[in-house]
Amino acid sequence: MKENICTIPINDLFKPKNGCPICRMEEMLEETYVDFVVGDAMMEPNIRIETNKKGFCHRHFTKMFKAGQKLPNALIMESHLKSIIENTLPNKAGSKPDKKSLEKIKTLRESCYVCDRIDHDIHHLLVTVFSEYQKSEQFRELYREQPFICLNHYEYILRDAMGKRGISSKFMKQFNEDTYNLTKNYLLELKEDTSYFCSMFDYRNRGKDFGKSKDVIERNIEYLTKELPE
Ligand SMILES: [Zn+2]
Ligand SMILES: [Zn+2]
Repeated sequence: MKENICTIPINDLFKPKNGCPICRMEEMLEETYVDFVVGDAMMEPNIRIETNKKGFCHRHFTKMFKAGQKLPNALIMESHLKSIIENTLPNKAGSKPDKKSLEKIKTLRESCYVCDRIDHDIHHLLVTVFSEYQKSEQFRELYREQPFICLNHYEYILRDAMGKRGISSKFMKQFNEDTYNLTKNYLLELKEDTSYFCSMFDYRNRGKDFGKSKDVIERNIEYLTKELPE
């Protein structure tokens, strides 16, 4: 598999200062894994065993469809369907529903090969973030200079920070504060833009400029759900 972002120094990943740094890392990983699944992974039977078992979420099936050729997509689907028929659904309907099989379907519905790989790598990268944060004032500055940390990753980062390879008690107060500020300040800004947008529908503001509030609905949807509206 081609070099992925886990091998890029963490400083370089934080340098662009463009949106939430963890979202940006997720996007880079996502692109890598989507291309991989419909590309090089086609030659790796072990990966197919895993994709057969886990399947993909709607977001990633759609991205694979856009990024890859039709045949690799159809081949992945063919063996995934075969695996569902042979291993997930019972061989035949018995006198009552097969609980084990229902459980398997539920697990399948909630799993995605790409999501799982991203998740794994992000946890891995966070360990490096924590270690860099505790090692260098320069990185702490870089961390504070991020435009924001999204709510989703606020929870993600702080949960990991409290974990085994997280932030030590010596740095916890500062790290918690820095992370909080990055999330809170952006929420306040988004809320202010949203209120401004709403106020523009008051007849007294007729003719005024929407300014940077004009795409606030799209920004809210993206911020709160991580997907741009279609
Ligand atoms: Zn994020
Ligand atoms: Zn997914």
